[in-house]
Amino acid sequence: MGILEVRDVNKSFGGLQALNNVQLNVEEGSVHAIIGPNGAGKSTFLNCLVGRLTPDTGSVTFNGGSLLGITPHEINQAGVARVFQTPEIFGDLSLLDNVIIPTFATRDGAFTLNAWKRADQDKEVREKAEHMLEDVGLIEKKDFIAGSLSRGDKRRLELAMCLVQNPKLLLLDEPTAGMSRADTNNTIDLLKRIGKRGITKIIIEHDMHVVFSLANKVSVMAQGTVIAEGLPEDIKGDPRVQEAYLGG
Ligand code: ADP
Ligand code: MG
Repeated sequence: MGILEVRDVNKSFGGLQALNNVQLNVEEGSVHAIIGPNGAGKSTFLNCLVGRLTPDTGSVTFNGGSLLGITPHEINQAGVARVFQTPEIFGDLSLLDNVIIPTFATRDGAFTLNAWKRADQDKEVREKAEHMLEDVGLIEKKDFIAGSLSRGDKRRLELAMCLVQNPKLLLLDEPTAGMSRADTNNTIDLLKRIGKRGITKIIIEHDMHVVFSLANKVSVMAQGTVIAEGLPEDIKGDPRVQEAYLGG
């Protein structure tokens, strides 16, 4: 039994079958990479895990409970957090506020100004938020407006916003997309450090350097289905994988 078990998930958009009988088993504490050509269905799959999309059929079991038929907020409360392909941050607010907000959004379920003010004045919450910013290397910029950050820093901020919720499962959709090599290596180091805390991770990634640096297991998606799965070193030489990339 894995912490996440996905069985026979299908999802169509009109006539296009974006997911075709997807099966996935993610071991607790592992880093599980999903790779595959553009349009393979990777983001659609993550959207099905976090409740942004509802699969047409199939089952998604996390930590013994179903993630289907519950709201994105309830999925989040069950311990699933996600870093998006395009960072979703509050651009007009300070970095510190950006990290404080998720701490009460998950507790109270609703985003209210009063709750935010309470959280902002709560010493424990502030310290936790500051600790997270320190963890991702942004503490010196805690009073900056988030919208002014570089792309790499926005991604780090979003990671801090996820981690402050103490997730059991972290979903990362192309966390190093658009980053310089130096920023990519910083992100790898950061994700390795996070890994030491035992958070299970699913990472969608194009950069094979990142995949081979982090993943314990790799699933390859093409045309909406998982076509191969294995250890990173086994996947590398799999002819089906090479064909999927060349054909895609
Ligand atoms: P990947 O993340 O692997 O690049 P996606 O999951 O984004 O792939 O897309 C899989 C397929 O589903 C693509 O053909 C894409 O055009 C299509 N698709 C994704 N989202 C939608 C949507 N909301 N409506 C219609 N088609 C979509
Ligand atoms: Mg995608």
